[in-house]
Order: sequence, then structure tokens, then C-alpha cells
Amino acid sequence: MQNDIQEVLITRKEIEDKVAELGAILSKEYEGRNPLVICVLKGAFIFMADLVKEITVPIELDFMAVSSYGASTKSSGVVKIIKDLDTSVEGRDVLIVEDIIDSGLTLTYLIDVLRRRGAKSTVVVTLFDKPARRTADLQADYTGFVLPDEFVVGYGLDYAEKYRNLPFIGVLKPEVYTT
Ligand code: 5GP
Ligand code: MG
Ligand code: MG
Repeated sequence: MQNDIQEVLITRKEIEDKVAELGAILSKEYEGRNPLVICVLKGAFIFMADLVKEITVPIELDFMAVSSYGASTKSSGVVKIIKDLDTSVEGRDVLIVEDIIDSGLTLTYLIDVLRRRGAKSTVVVTLFDKPARRTADLQADYTGFVLPDEFVVGYGLDYAEKYRNLPFIGVLKPEVYTT
């Protein structure tokens, strides 16, 4: 698996430090409140798990799975809810935890759904952002790292469902896509 990696863009340690930093900021933001933290599956599962350990206010959490990519490296622009929340968001302060924002289409759709369901507030924290590829008018409230316009894997992010368990963020060798 490690042999398929061309370059490590962000190390395990850099990610750890950033997640702790984001957790501290969010703990302040939600002081005295009890947010519902929503993990956007599957990509954000590792970030979510690490982040909530750094949040010091009481939270509840839930999971949602959406799909926009299939096995390709580009967004189809069509977002589908694969797994919905178990919890009602009505009147709740919602913190959406994303792995990476690319076109911004997935989050634009999600925020719209949550607001229509009566969320009191929606805040987005994403670990990675690729602003160069944005087509939707959307910005995260909190961002870990800004990345170049490259397809990345690791720390929850996949290519064709593989590489999610790499503890760093990297770029695959070109031959991995062609074989
Ligand atoms: P968007 O709707 O913003 O274009 O992309 C949403 C989702 O596509 C992300 O949450 C992520 O799951 C996936 N995605 C976007 N860019 C990348 C990337 O560089 N690598 C991987 N593995 N997934 C990506
Ligand atoms: Mg995602
Ligand atoms: Mg994916």
C-alpha cells in the first residue's frame, strides 16, 4: 500500500497537531452549548474520531453518508443520501465534519438539507480544502489545511475504497490509476 504513494503531502504529526488546534477552537466556539456533531461518511470518519476527543463541551454525534463520486476521482455533481441521520436536527446547533472540500457541491447540498430540517445553526469544519476546484459558492467555517489541486488519499480518504487507513495524506503514483 505504501508502495503506491508518490509523495506524502501532510504527515501524521502535522495532522495530529492541527486536529488538536481545531478541537480547542471548537471547544471555545461551543462553550455552554451542546452541539450535534455530524460526520460525513466515509471519508471523515478518522477526522471525526480524532476531533471529538479534543472537544471539551458535551456533544452528541451522528453519521450521514452521501455519494457524489462513485469510483472516479471527479465529482459527478449529483449528490445522493446513502445513509441518513438517526437524530432530528430541529433547533440544534449542528457541526458538520468533512474530510475535504473540492467542488463544494456535497456540502452545499448537505447544509441546505439540514437548514430545511430546522437546524438552528450550521458550522462546517473540514480538515482539507482544495479551493482551486470550487464550483459552488461555499466556504468552510474552519479549515485544517489548504491543498493543491491534486487527488489525495489517506487519513480516511480513499481511491476506489482503498488507502483510507494510511495515517498521512499523500498522492498516488500515476500508474495506480492506469492499471
Ligand atoms: P465536493 O462535493 O466538494 O466536490 O467533494 C466532496 C467529497 O469528494 C469529499 O468530501 C471527499 O469525500 C471527495 N473528495 C474530494 N476531493 C478528494 C480527493 O482529493 N481525494 C479523495 N480521496 N476524495 C476526495
Ligand atoms: Mg467527504
Ligand atoms: Mg471517496
